[in-house]
Amino acid sequence: MGIRLTNEEILAILRAADEIIGQGGRTLLAKILKGSRDKKVLELGLDLCPTYGYFRAQTLEQIMEKVDWMIHHDFLEIQFSGKLPMLVFTEQGWTIERSQIVEELLKEWDAWLRKGVAAVDMSYLKERNRGMVLELLETVKRKRASQYVPFLEQWEKIEVRKVREAIRETIAALRSEDGLSSLDGQHKQTEFTVPGLEPELLKCRECGERFQFEVEEQKFYKSKGFAPPKRCPKCREKKWFRNMGIELPGDDRRGIVRGKRRLTWISMV
Ligand SMILES: [Zn+2]
Repeated sequence: MGIRLTNEEILAILRAADEIIGQGGRTLLAKILKGSRDKKVLELGLDLCPTYGYFRAQTLEQIMEKVDWMIHHDFLEIQFSGKLPMLVFTEQGWTIERSQIVEELLKEWDAWLRKGVAAVDMSYLKERNRGMVLELLETVKRKRASQYVPFLEQWEKIEVRKVREAIRETIAALRSEDGLSSLDGQHKQTEFTVPGLEPELLKCRECGERFQFEVEEQKFYKSKGFAPPKRCPKCREKKWFRNMGIELPGDDRRGIVRGKRRLTWISMV
């Protein structure tokens, strides 16, 4: 009780959970975060997770408390596989984790570009979670990051039809951007390093109202690797109350969402 996790801690736990989602429970997750040398942890290669040992200085019990906080606050939940309680993402948890993975993948692409790597085996992206893959392509498009086209082209060759089409569409969008900006050599770089300097008008998926996504907010969301908010500030606040277990009058959406999201959020990462 009484604990409160920072955004960074939430991200770290989600990242570790991703390694075992649908396959492991609370204890295994806590062991990853503890940096445990447990046989199972090592056998599954979980010591390679970027947030392995994130809570090294804490006791397993303290870490379990954080894991339970994540469950209580609707980032993770327990589903039974037979008699075994397994962790799965909630909608909220998966939305955040998906963006985090997209950022991680793009950082790797950036590293390849810096090293001048030209030919890459892109098969590691095959059979990854479809929602994540589509968000990756959306992000590349939004950033107008045409430097990734060589990777996209190699990836396209090995993909299944649906994803192949999405990759092709992304490449085409990036190429037409490139054509427009070819008169100005600086343009591309500027676009990429200082994206979205204008407030965006977004539509709330809960109440349908338009709301302003301010530049400062955009920077914060980006630095955390979060996708843009899906709800207006008012609905976000309501959601926060719901997550804290405070039901506001006339609010029955949680039940609806809970009912239909079973097993949809299993990640293939
Ligand atoms: Zn709203």
